[in-house]
Amino acid sequence: MVVLDKVFLFDTVDSLSSDLISLSRRIWEYAETAFDEHKSAEALASFLEAEGFNVTRNAANISTAFTAAYGEGSPCCALLGEYDALSGLGHRAGEAKYSPPDSSAPGHGCGHNLLGVGSLGAAVALKRAIEKGLLRGKIIYFGCPAEEGGSGKTFMAREKLFAKADFALDWHPGNANSVALDSSLANYQIMYRFRGISSHAGGAPEKGRSALDGVELMNIGVQFLREHIPTTHRIHYAITDTGGFSPNVVQSNAEVLYLMRAPTIEEVEALYERVNRIAHGAALMTDTTVEVDFVKACSQVIPNRALADILYKNLELVGPPVFEDADHAFADSLAESYGGSVVPESAPEGFSGSLATYLNPYTPEIEGASGGSTDVGDVSGMIPTARIYIASAPIGIPSHSWQMTSCSGSSVGFKGMICAAKVLASAAADILESDEIITKAKEELSCRRNGSEYICPIPEGIVPRVLKFR
Ligand SMILES: [Zn+2]
Repeated sequence: MVVLDKVFLFDTVDSLSSDLISLSRRIWEYAETAFDEHKSAEALASFLEAEGFNVTRNAANISTAFTAAYGEGSPCCALLGEYDALSGLGHRAGEAKYSPPDSSAPGHGCGHNLLGVGSLGAAVALKRAIEKGLLRGKIIYFGCPAEEGGSGKTFMAREKLFAKADFALDWHPGNANSVALDSSLANYQIMYRFRGISSHAGGAPEKGRSALDGVELMNIGVQFLREHIPTTHRIHYAITDTGGFSPNVVQSNAEVLYLMRAPTIEEVEALYERVNRIAHGAALMTDTTVEVDFVKACSQVIPNRALADILYKNLELVGPPVFEDADHAFADSLAESYGGSVVPESAPEGFSGSLATYLNPYTPEIEGASGGSTDVGDVSGMIPTARIYIASAPIGIPSHSWQMTSCSGSSVGFKGMICAAKVLASAAADILESDEIITKAKEELSCRRNGSEYICPIPEGIVPRVLKFR
């Protein structure tokens, strides 16, 4: 495969590790949520700029998206970076007991401060190899905002940004070391805004038309719908405006945010049509009106075996993160906060402990879909894409939790991040040096798409936005 000695890449990542850890820690402190990640995006972009990357800010007209490119011609490797936090998950770093400084503060409860910097570490190591003439091709680091609730990558895919690359590699902090071969659920996020007429609820109820009744009847209608959809589909909601806090006022405004998921984007669209009919039915029943506001969508992940095979070989080469005694002690006490970690089936015989110090066996059969969604789906629909998970938190940790926020700012998370940077750099180098792998990966994507072209599920005219709730 590569003439490049992989030790060069690993040593480069090691030499950068203290810079990477402090960058990740800064992003952890910023804890900025969807489409509001100004300081985080700038920290990553300016780091890459100082390294010699050609940075384009405001990518796809999104103020917190950017690209950073290095090298010439082809092949071109995309490395995906995320850096958004989640609201309400603020916590102290490295604390095993629940002690939020402010329970309403945002926090990195999905570890995207690790994700963005791990991919950046790989990009820099590859850049230095290209610069020294040890590797051919080009690297583009994609600074992708709002993975949580905003689908930044899908908006970027609508502008065809990822089509500049031949393939994409990605990772996510997890509680095991594995290569992802499963798909994910596609989704639509839609706001239903009901409008009625305000009135004194006691004095003149006949003059009022309740928007809140509209929301409630819509939710009841959807509840009945749930019995008549495939078990693979999911419908979630949050009432984001109840129309005020006065029961003696007929609420003239109310809104409900829906998230609909299914294994394919076509199935989500069909589900959306049915939910829309229920919303209009609820408006008819209450003599109100309803506005259907399309917020965002994302496609299902299309796995790629050809790339996953290479990722696993390099995961074996690098090995799992090596944790210290203090990391194990922290992980054990953090695990106690959710009832302790249970030894997973994938663990080798005799394994005990809370941190996965082993690799999950590679099962090259393409698996089904997980219950969640990711906008990586839209990258994977456009160019061959593969992803690894690296143990950056204890086994069994709930994702989107204060425990994950605590761990993402700790040395357990940082060790996972450094390991991920090495695996991604090493795998990308193999793929960049092999036209055969790239051709195979592209043929596989075309075959999985049955020859069809990628179509962005977000219609033209819908713009990324920070959702503000009353
Ligand atoms: Zn995530």
